[in-house]
Amino acid sequence: MNLSSQLHETAKRIPEKPAYYFMDQASSYAELDGAITKFASGLEKLGVKKGDHVAMLLGNSPFFVIGMYGALRLGATVIPINPIYTPDEIGYILHNGDVKTIISLDLLVPLAEKMQHALPMVENYIICETPQGKEANVDVSQLSIYPKLKSFTDVVASGDISFAGPELDEEDVAIILYTSGTTGKPKGAMLTHKNLYSNARDVGTYLRMNEDDRVITTLPMFHVFCLTVSLNAPLLKGATILIDPKFSPKEIFRLAKKYQPTIFAGVPTMYNFLYQYPDGDPQDLKSLRLCISGGAAMPVALLKSFEEKFNVMISEGYGLSEASPVTCFNPLDRPRKPGSIGPSIIHVENKVVNELGEEVPVGESGELIVRGPNVMKGYYKMPEETAATIRDGWLYTGDMAKMDEDGYFYIVDRKKDLVIVGGYNVYPREVEEVLYNHPDVVEVAVVGVPDPNQGEAVRAYIVSKNPSLTEEAVIAYCREHLAKYKVPCSVEFLEELPKNTTGKILRRALKEQVVKN
Ligand code: AMP
Repeated sequence: MNLSSQLHETAKRIPEKPAYYFMDQASSYAELDGAITKFASGLEKLGVKKGDHVAMLLGNSPFFVIGMYGALRLGATVIPINPIYTPDEIGYILHNGDVKTIISLDLLVPLAEKMQHALPMVENYIICETPQGKEANVDVSQLSIYPKLKSFTDVVASGDISFAGPELDEEDVAIILYTSGTTGKPKGAMLTHKNLYSNARDVGTYLRMNEDDRVITTLPMFHVFCLTVSLNAPLLKGATILIDPKFSPKEIFRLAKKYQPTIFAGVPTMYNFLYQYPDGDPQDLKSLRLCISGGAAMPVALLKSFEEKFNVMISEGYGLSEASPVTCFNPLDRPRKPGSIGPSIIHVENKVVNELGEEVPVGESGELIVRGPNVMKGYYKMPEETAATIRDGWLYTGDMAKMDEDGYFYIVDRKKDLVIVGGYNVYPREVEEVLYNHPDVVEVAVVGVPDPNQGEAVRAYIVSKNPSLTEEAVIAYCREHLAKYKVPCSVEFLEELPKNTTGKILRRALKEQVVKN
């Protein structure tokens, strides 16, 4: 059960088949596997050993795929990091994660030079050459980290194509993913070879991915949603991925027209952008057989209008870093239910429980808990947090959910996003769903703000396509559709909503803004 050796097997079976396209260049499975083998061997020659930690600060590119699968083949543990994190955030993860080798873009070399004193444990910086980096024209020979700098291309070139790699145990940690968690510093979720392999296999099987599929890989590869759904699962099933470095509707329509993809996976904001894009010809997306949504709640109004405009089904699923990530998906062989994340995928169990950990009756809300081969080993070096999150073999997700009589789950909201207005529970998602039905609303986020009388009050942040939409009109609209205590007491109009690099709307950033003001 491990991804890298499985890719080796796939390359023996379908060597000529394109594994990916990047910048309109194809690479076959045999070429990709060859580069992975040589990179793994080159890493070993640099002194990297099984069990060492290798961080990757990279956007979507073949470097990411070769770097990750190469390090895994050697038995190293990979730590993907969002390259646009601040130096403090990056420094924290590198330290906490005991990183010895860093793979990054040449654009980050000046940062590495600046941070080197804080990072004495780093032995190698493997630098991927980008056209932009060359333009930046840093004379690396003048830098004091120069002796530790290696070029990615040279590492591959130094490798041995017959390298076999060590025996891997499926319980070994393959990847540590740092998640922001609910409080405090980020925590490193340790995902084993078995966790990652089983989830990629089960998602791929559940969504019927196969060698005829072409998957648009535009979500960031350092995020677990992309890692499993748009990278590992398609490669495990022998599909072709279309690597897109940065999401834009224009590029998605161009890729679609040129390569006739069959699967697109994105977060809801991406569907909103594609839907609103004025130059998007629905005909260009006609090759898609399936759209996959996850990472955040898909507004039902958007799901329906997108499906109608582009004539393709959106299957919503759910997951979290700690579960590698997928636990639920709307199925292809049974009705999919808008607003639902679907039933449990194969081999994974989901359950809704009360405060005492007891299963609640159908239709009642409680915390979603998960069990299966995809559940992480624990948080790296954080036994207490691990014990609080995994209890009796069940992963406590921190998400509130309910299940219907057909075994389909619905995410009510995040436990911590709950707003309590004068003792009443308001789940922001419910208010957002109502507002997404308003014809002028493009995007909305609802948060709780301090209120002297009621403890908290509901506030809505709205991106509107009609400049004359007023706060009063929005409140009046909500009054028609919601109980009084759920109606926002204030509305603010924004040009855009804050989002993280995955495209998830950051309610927390809006809340922090309120506290600051
Ligand atoms: P991450 O660990 O960054 O992947 O974030 C996981 C979190 O994203 C989950 O705990 C949920 O709060 C949220 N999430 C993922 N998928 C969905 C979904 N389909 N609906 C609502 N929330 C979701």
